[in-house]
Amino acid sequence: MLEGRVILKQGREKKLRHLYPWIQQGEIAEVQGSPTPGALVQVYAKEGNFVGVGTYNPKPRFPVRLLSLQEEPIDQAFFVRRLQRALSLRQKVVSDTNAVRILFGESDGIPGLIVDQFGDYLVVQVRTAGMERLKPLWLSALSEVLNPKGILERSEMESRREEGLCPHTQTLLGEMPEYIPIHESGLEFLVPTQWGLKTGFYIDQRDNRRQLARQIQPGERVLDLFCYTGAFSLYAARAGAQAVGVDILPDATALAQRHAEMNHLEATWLTANAFDWLVEAQGRGEQYDWILLDPPAIAKTRGQRDSLKWAIWKLVYNALPLLPEGGRLVVCSCAYQLDLSIMIDTVRLACTDRGRALWVDDVSFQSPDHPFLLQFPESLYLKCLWLRVG
Ligand code: SAH
Repeated sequence: MLEGRVILKQGREKKLRHLYPWIQQGEIAEVQGSPTPGALVQVYAKEGNFVGVGTYNPKPRFPVRLLSLQEEPIDQAFFVRRLQRALSLRQKVVSDTNAVRILFGESDGIPGLIVDQFGDYLVVQVRTAGMERLKPLWLSALSEVLNPKGILERSEMESRREEGLCPHTQTLLGEMPEYIPIHESGLEFLVPTQWGLKTGFYIDQRDNRRQLARQIQPGERVLDLFCYTGAFSLYAARAGAQAVGVDILPDATALAQRHAEMNHLEATWLTANAFDWLVEAQGRGEQYDWILLDPPAIAKTRGQRDSLKWAIWKLVYNALPLLPEGGRLVVCSCAYQLDLSIMIDTVRLACTDRGRALWVDDVSFQSPDHPFLLQFPESLYLKCLWLRVG
């Protein structure tokens, strides 16, 4: 399986030994052999010491993704071991749901592969040519350990193009239903396998939904902007709040209504552009006790970071008039590129421009089945600011 060797420039092995798994073009001194895109390679330091085994692709900015610091075969047993380690972590940090991210790429020692478990089914995302090539091995490992009824690949990320891959969707094993029933905190949901966004359900917000539910008081008015299939709103509705969910995707708000019926809850769903809707609601003098802002990443590159920053500024600026004194605002960003300090600066600008005080009650992150590996800063992507308005 090994197709060559990558020799690093002087000193570049240090960060790899410290568990950062990506090697940049500029860190490579020499590539020996002629590894084809996605092939397994051994990585060596300039002095000739073995560093690890990884996958190689000449195209992208990061040609090598390290899989192991040991001189071990990358076979089905390797994937089984990684999977078992990841599952044992999940057992400690996840409860009361059958929707779990069981593999979170680099954080779980498998760069480029994401696996979400929805009940008896798995939905995977393949981000690199390396994981594409190793598919037979990790597919067998998933079957061996979990014996799922079906495995769906939803690799729709545009970032695959940098790896020389096209975005695509395919059933890898068994048969996939159009909707997978799941439960979370006693609520029932359906995960759409055909039109759903990402892997179909935002598991990463689970703990934030629970945090919201713990704080909501009966009778409070909750505005859930970018509600997707209504998960935050339904937690709020169950806590006795009057929830309004807004999303631009008609399929999402239709499924949100179905979710409300399945759970015998009531909420209002609106299909609209959240940016425009906020301005209109301001004109109507609407008021809410809570506003949740959970916009999509928008920024995929550093260059797009400014547009996301201004999108957040605009959302906060236009949400503030809808919140009375003591109102609560939750601002989330799932873009790695917009880090916590930029988020805080952006929100501060918006509240200063409105002349309102904002206190930070809490800061929270993605649920722990999306582990944030400290040595891999890119693995912290979802940040939520829990704010109180003066
Ligand atoms: N809070 C959700 C996840 C939100 S994902 C949950 O916990 O499940 C982001 C959502 O924003 C998607 O559903 C997408 O359809 C929606 N969206 C994107 N642009 C939008 C816009 N301009 N107005 C309203 N919704 C938008």
